Amino acid sequence: MSEERQDTTRAELMSRPTPLEPAPRLARAIGLDPDDLWIKRDDLIGLGGGGNKVRKLEWTAGAARAEGATTLVTSGAAQSNHARLTAAAGARLGMDVVLVLAGAPAEGMTGNIALDGLFGARVVWAGEVSEAELAAAVEDVARDLRERGARSAVIPFGGSSVLGAQGYAEAGTELLVQDPDLTTAVVAVGSGGTMAGLVHTLGAERVLGVHCGAVADPEHTVGHLVEGLAGRPAATSPRLRLDQVGPGYSALTEPVMDAITTAARTEGIVLDPVYTGRALAGLIAAVHDGQVRPGQRTVFVHTGGLPGLFGHPETLARARSAVADTAVRWPRG
Ligand SMILES: *Cc1c(COP(=O)(O)O)cnc(C)c1O
Repeated sequence: MSEERQDTTRAELMSRPTPLEPAPRLARAIGLDPDDLWIKRDDLIGLGGGGNKVRKLEWTAGAARAEGATTLVTSGAAQSNHARLTAAAGARLGMDVVLVLAGAPAEGMTGNIALDGLFGARVVWAGEVSEAELAAAVEDVARDLRERGARSAVIPFGGSSVLGAQGYAEAGTELLVQDPDLTTAVVAVGSGGTMAGLVHTLGAERVLGVHCGAVADPEHTVGHLVEGLAGRPAATSPRLRLDQVGPGYSALTEPVMDAITTAARTEGIVLDPVYTGRALAGLIAAVHDGQVRPGQRTVFVHTGGLPGLFGHPETLARARSAVADTAVRWPRG
């Protein structure tokens, strides 16, 4: 019943299916057989530079629009991909967007922030705040907008409500059509909706989530959304790797830099230091300890994040240093 209502309110923000591509050279580089590894290219979703948040926004922004909202309000880190894609979705749907971001404006900010501006979003800087304080700031801003006559709707942190996670329940169905023999889908976990949706469709056994440090208790966060999608308690807890967070969400670790470099040099594919780099580092660790084995079909879900790479000075410096090491002046002196 509720599903029927939701279907009529989903906004069309992308072409589907996204490609599923083989990655034989990456497979070999990380200890799998060449046929084992495929990449689900949700980074190639066309809206706003692409990424997983679009699938969730089809549901959350679609519902907001159907309820008569004209302004979308959401929150995130300064380099939030979700904030950037909410800004793009607002542009596509003809809605105003207000982003409440943690931190303060800084010189030379690039990556997602530059795109937020390009898409015409207004940014409210919330300062150094906790998760709970950021959520409170969003509610304050939304109330202030309403008092001034705007019809505003709040899109949850990362787009990960049960409604938003519906987008990845759907993506799971799309993936099964492309790859019925799938053994394991590996995915980065931030606010949890992406993994939860995949678990809903593929089952807990077939999804391996790599925690990126965005939430305090990923098992609870993902489990709660899985139960919300199913409408009943879950029999199995989500399979999560917690070993790739390192010193924290925005910190670059050596395994992640190695993973980013390996993907770039074997397949010409760009990962980001916060999410997809961690997800591949988690897959590499999983092959190491036998959690993922050669001969099984593994799908790496590429959830996007390229603009975040350009908003991460340390990763950029590391990438550039490879050019510096090999640079030659011409003509040779
Ligand atoms: C947000 C994000 C994720 C994590 O998705 P959640 O649904 O928040 O867990 C993964 N990769 C990228 C690039 C993201 O921006």
